[in-house]
Amino acid sequence: MSVTSEPGASGRAGRAVSADISAGVEYRLVRNRLVRDVERGRTMKIDVCDAHPELLRAARNVGRPTKETCPICAECRLVTVTFVFGAKLPAGGRCPGTAAELAQLCRRPEPVLCYEVEVCPECAWHHLMRKYPGGGPKGRRRSKVAP
Ligand SMILES: [Zn+2]
Repeated sequence: MSVTSEPGASGRAGRAVSADISAGVEYRLVRNRLVRDVERGRTMKIDVCDAHPELLRAARNVGRPTKETCPICAECRLVTVTFVFGAKLPAGGRCPGTAAELAQLCRRPEPVLCYEVEVCPECAWHHLMRKYPGGGPKGRRRSKVAP
């Protein structure tokens, strides 16, 4: 049964799966605001360009290139890295190297949570772009995996 965007019932700490898309827009807005703050000198670059070494390594090894140039340093194309968290996965999350591997993780019987992060391998800028659930006992939840 699919519940299509039921209004209300928001604000709770529940898992609002249907709120995925608006959440994605929200992340984007937050991200753009942060970039503007850096441009205006309200936020230090050092505060936003602090990607964890592990994340940077993932970005270099398995990051999927985007067409976007880094908004902070303008030196490098951004890459997308996805981390998958869930039971029986490493505490730091699994970082699938291919779309196929990601799709496989999203079909696990255990529920997983995927975090899609954009990273600049050059200046270590990083920001969460998308967060979506996958897996689960039903295993028939649609997993929207972008190419
Ligand atoms: Zn950069």
